[in-house]
Amino acid sequence: MTEPSLLSLRDAVRGEVLLPGEEGFDAARKPYNLAVVQDVRAVVTAADADDVAALVRYANQAGVPIAVQPTGHGASGTAAGAILLRTGRLDELSVDPEARTARIGAGVTSGAVNAATAPHGLIGKPGSSPTVSVAGYTLGGGAGFFARKYGMSSDHVIEFEVVDATGEPRKANAEENPDLFHALAGGGGDFAIVTALTVRLHEERELFGGTTFWPDSRADEVFAAFRDVTASAPQELSVWVSRAQFPGGAPAVVAVTVAYLGPETDGRVLLKPFEAIDGVLNGAWKALPFEELATITNDPVDPGPSVSRAELLGRFDAGTIAVLLAEPVAPLLALQVRHLGGALTGARPGPRGPVAEEYLVYLLGLAPTKEAGAAVAAKQAEVVAALGDAVTGGKLATFLGATDTLADTMAADEAERLRGLKKKWDPQGRFVANFPLGE
Ligand SMILES: Cc1cc2nc3c(=O)[nH]c(=O)nc-3n(C[C@H](O)[C@H](O)[C@H](O)COP(=O)(O)OP(=O)(O)OC[C@H]3O[C@@H](n4cnc5c(N)ncnc54)[C@H](O)[C@@H]3O)c2cc1C
Repeated sequence: MTEPSLLSLRDAVRGEVLLPGEEGFDAARKPYNLAVVQDVRAVVTAADADDVAALVRYANQAGVPIAVQPTGHGASGTAAGAILLRTGRLDELSVDPEARTARIGAGVTSGAVNAATAPHGLIGKPGSSPTVSVAGYTLGGGAGFFARKYGMSSDHVIEFEVVDATGEPRKANAEENPDLFHALAGGGGDFAIVTALTVRLHEERELFGGTTFWPDSRADEVFAAFRDVTASAPQELSVWVSRAQFPGGAPAVVAVTVAYLGPETDGRVLLKPFEAIDGVLNGAWKALPFEELATITNDPVDPGPSVSRAELLGRFDAGTIAVLLAEPVAPLLALQVRHLGGALTGARPGPRGPVAEEYLVYLLGLAPTKEAGAAVAAKQAEVVAALGDAVTGGKLATFLGATDTLADTMAADEAERLRGLKKKWDPQGRFVANFPLGE
């Protein structure tokens, strides 16, 4: 039965409202990660930015929290008891090729931005999934294919357009509400609802990349080559190495994912240590138009149940490799190491600060049942424990897992500053992010 306090929600907003028990509610509340159950009070698809403001005013009167979740790619269970706000209708997207900027509505996906910028020879700062929202990815910093050259997505925000916790539309940029701008530039969605953001684009003309697979029996050679290539890689080159055990009983594989901003001939020279390894199952590195960026990894676009854990590594040496190769991949689906470094090590706006660690290990498993999820989490804990003090305890906000908080992604004084900004901008705690700051 619908709570009395929510009966007037449909009168308050113009967008679609779905309440528990209504047809479509169960489908609408599901996040991309189906392992997360979202026991929300209502799902609202706001019609536009004014409608977002109307929803906030309504929530203030009703005393109900709001969880903004464009896609649920980062869902964690914190939305329980909240009104779930979907932003899909905030879909404005305009590119200014002269100014090299894009204004991106809060519901626009990374793939849509890439499709709009590529014809102009311009790029944003996308990650591997074309279906994440640019707003959510950027609020978490966003460390993607080109992060070694350009840093995080949040480093390139010129302005956030928001609705604040009083329901007022505002701008946050370097001059207007600079403290809110600081918090949103990688500090997550805990401070205001972003309705659109304007970002800087960069000119790039050539892309070479893709994913090449070998049998897992080649993993020692491939990981050694990965260490050599990444030790001297230019900032234009991003390489990720993965061991994967796909469902269905096929033999495990090892894969090298490449995104290189430059000509194929130069890319192949940089990747020579890999080219010398026999047994390639599928050699897919090639020159790519930017429109085909998502084919580099072909991330799944359909929702599925999974449990992930990521850790930053302070070193990647023979001992680290030995741990990562010691056991079969299962019950994980993938054990991946991403090369960071480059521009990520520099200063940036927002609370995150430089990412000193040059590598990130990402452990992902499918969780179709609670038991399967528990087995994946246990394996993740085992691998992390075996990595010992190579794991620094630092985190990236877009790679948080069940036991992490946003405070883990920044220095203690920055976390304290953000706690103050939360009190200033959202004193009632109206907004609930997937990964709140934590005490
Ligand atoms: C397959 C896959 C590949 C990925 N690849 C990468 C990668 O290469 N690099 C990387 O850095 N990350 C990557 N990620 C992580 C991804 O960037 C985060 O999960 C991100 O939070 C997704 O944003 P979303 O809005 O789509 O997700 P959601 O879960 O819908 O939202 C995430 C959070 O963002 C906040 N938020 C979103 N929109 C708003 C808004 N308009 N106003 C206020 N707050 C808002 C909310 O707090 C929300 O909890 C990947 C994730 C997946 C599932």
